[in-house]
Amino acid sequence: MKKTNLKGLTQKELEEFVLSIEEKKFRGQQLFDWLYNKEAESFNDMSTFSKSLRNKLDELATIDTLELLTFHKSIHDNTTKFLFQLKDGKRIESVLIPPKTAFQNGDVDDEEDEQKRLTLCVSTQVGCPLDCVFCATGAMGFGRNLTAGEIVDQVLQTKKIAGKKITNIVFMGMGEPLMNYDSVMNSIDIISNGINISTRRITLSTAGWVDGIIRMADEGKKIKLAISLHSLNDEVRSKLMPLNKKFNLQQLMKAVEYYYRKIKIRVTFEYILFAGINDRMEDAKSLVKLSKTMPCKINIIPFHNIGSTNPKSFAANLHPVPMREADKFANLLRKNHVTVFIRSSAGEDIAAACGQLAVKNKPK
Ligand code: SF4
Repeated sequence: MKKTNLKGLTQKELEEFVLSIEEKKFRGQQLFDWLYNKEAESFNDMSTFSKSLRNKLDELATIDTLELLTFHKSIHDNTTKFLFQLKDGKRIESVLIPPKTAFQNGDVDDEEDEQKRLTLCVSTQVGCPLDCVFCATGAMGFGRNLTAGEIVDQVLQTKKIAGKKITNIVFMGMGEPLMNYDSVMNSIDIISNGINISTRRITLSTAGWVDGIIRMADEGKKIKLAISLHSLNDEVRSKLMPLNKKFNLQQLMKAVEYYYRKIKIRVTFEYILFAGINDRMEDAKSLVKLSKTMPCKINIIPFHNIGSTNPKSFAANLHPVPMREADKFANLLRKNHVTVFIRSSAGEDIAAACGQLAVKNKPK
């Protein structure tokens, strides 16, 4: 009989599991605590269980963990990138971002909070099917969706290696989280209720998967939503992000406004500045107009060139905007009462910055 991997099961699923093996329902709650709060990696560690129960669990179930292959630490800002191998040999990356590195100096949302913040950027898919032209993960193609256990274990393993409490989670690593909706939502349930990271400190970033945004709103998911926007012009955005041909800006904004009306949490728009493409006065005016439609903030992100091999592709036209010009663009927005932050290039030297995650998925 195939053993059941318990890592990644929610409390409700663990209760169903223990009932299925003729144990009392409360054992499910205890297992949930052992797996995610006490971080047990074997049934032997579960000292509140009798020897016979531990043996029974060992016969019927497993606690799968990710295999850490390597990790690299930035010499500039201590951002650390982890390379994990999954059970089928596929590989993913996660990035741990220390305090005061996410934004440019002085550009912080909450100074006191920022001092203590340790943010983990998690992956939700092996590669990504969406093929945004500025993103190294998109260039990898799509492998598969991660299970809830594989998402949760990125948090547990990095916490163990870092030896520190992770305070914030951002679903901004490899993959489009809303294309892996059920596993991502189960992982959020476990991260918030089992690992005890409040949903107020969890941000999900989407390229604009409209169906998922509406579902989140309808299901009352109180997590921070970030939209990879990058242009308010359909023609330009479709060139940057092919998903815009499926869900255009009008559909996207309607879904985001719907989400805000239901959830009432300020939305973040991520905006990578590309020289001559989306950094013009008319682009700034469009962002000002957008900011009047709902409470939101805009994160300006420096572009990290991932190197296009095809000179005819649109990616070959993408170049970063010098920091002085990015400041000017941000100030123009600020003058018009837009809340705007400039994100730093944390981890750029180890290819851990925004859009740089990519691994070769060699089998074991
Ligand atoms: S930016 Fe996000 S959605 Fe787009 S290809 Fe990269 S990982 Fe996928």
